[in-house]
Amino acid sequence: MPKRVLILGATGSIGRSALEVAAALADEIRIVGLTAGSDAASLAELARRFSVPAVAIADENAFDQLRRAVPAGTRVLAGAEGLVELVQTTEADFVLAAIVGAAGLPATLAAVEQGRVVGLANKESLVMAGALLMPLAVARGATLIPVDSEHSAIFQALHAGRREDVRRVILTASGGPFRSWPAERIAAATLAEALRHPTWNMGPKITIDSATMVNKALEIIEAHWLFGLPPEQIDVLIHPESIVHSLVEFQDGSLIAQLGTPDMKTPIQYALTYPRRVPGIADRLDWRQVGCLRFELPDPARFPALELGYAAARRGGCSGAVFNAANEAAVTHFRNGRIPFGRIVRLAEQVLGRHVDVAQPGLADLLAADRWAREEVERCL
Ligand code: NDP
Repeated sequence: MPKRVLILGATGSIGRSALEVAAALADEIRIVGLTAGSDAASLAELARRFSVPAVAIADENAFDQLRRAVPAGTRVLAGAEGLVELVQTTEADFVLAAIVGAAGLPATLAAVEQGRVVGLANKESLVMAGALLMPLAVARGATLIPVDSEHSAIFQALHAGRREDVRRVILTASGGPFRSWPAERIAAATLAEALRHPTWNMGPKITIDSATMVNKALEIIEAHWLFGLPPEQIDVLIHPESIVHSLVEFQDGSLIAQLGTPDMKTPIQYALTYPRRVPGIADRLDWRQVGCLRFELPDPARFPALELGYAAARRGGCSGAVFNAANEAAVTHFRNGRIPFGRIVRLAEQVLGRHVDVAQPGLADLLAADRWAREEVERCL
């Protein structure tokens, strides 16, 4: 029987790559639901192409357009609650969480509550609410399979030994477009420059996060929750070629890495077919073309975001939610031309510094912290 797959964030970079993978594995994958934020035309087109029985769109104003554009008989839901309802009422064997930002949390949470196998690309939901999502997954029998390439690499490398024998994990980072730029030039980088990632082709928010290295900071927190590791056992290493996707170091000094081309279709497919490995459509690594692989330590002076990631992971509580929300708000302001590039991380740092935390926050506390951080960014401007 084909695996029934629901894709949250189907119109995005990860969502579309997942649909390409699904099309290549049409015998074993059936798409049972798709969602988008506001792009009704693309969602309807994907629903038609993959004969999808149910769709949901977050923007309620796009409901009529979507309803008119999908084939008769397609179930159509709208609003943030519509996305959650789709997750709750769709019989799915696998849910791909690929919405961008904190907006992905409610639907991801719903998938975990349903005890689904969840392919997690939406790192922000874990950064925000890892303290709730991880125990909930255990309680509901849900399985989280990382889709982020670094975490997929670590997940795969962990199969080489016992958890208690792990010494540390090493997240690799391309270093982004400004890896070798001086601080003054980074501070004044334009939007076009920030969107020009040297190795990965991704959606705009994560591309900007890669340029500030906030993406790696979020990944530190993501790894902390996914693998139950304290921040001091999570290292970051710059690797400009993006071939070694991350490493696990065991107690005996052995380092186990996962390598491949920088193509998200590989970790997406691995999550979809896990634990099987089947021929895929991603480009294969050609060793004749690879040449040399470089590794460098990150420069905390030019990329202060990394330390913020460690600080938020160490503090726990609502710190992840605050850091994530402040960054999201700052990135939006940068994209709208309201602040210079250099202000993004400074704003996140300022807001994180002003936050007064609560111990053992519940969902309401985390959502309140997210709101507060966004308002605090406005107050700082
Ligand atoms: P994109 O911006 O390309 O796509 C985002 C998706 O989320 C779209 O389907 C979009 O719909 C939808 N969306 C946007 N806002 C909302 C909202 N308020 N409510 C519901 N849905 C919404 O992002 P990416 O695919 O690049 O990234 C998705 C996630 O995957 C992120 O968390 C990112 O960090 C993570 N990730 C991405 C990688 C990549 O290579 N792209 C690599 C590793 C992780 P619409 O099209 O209608 O706006």
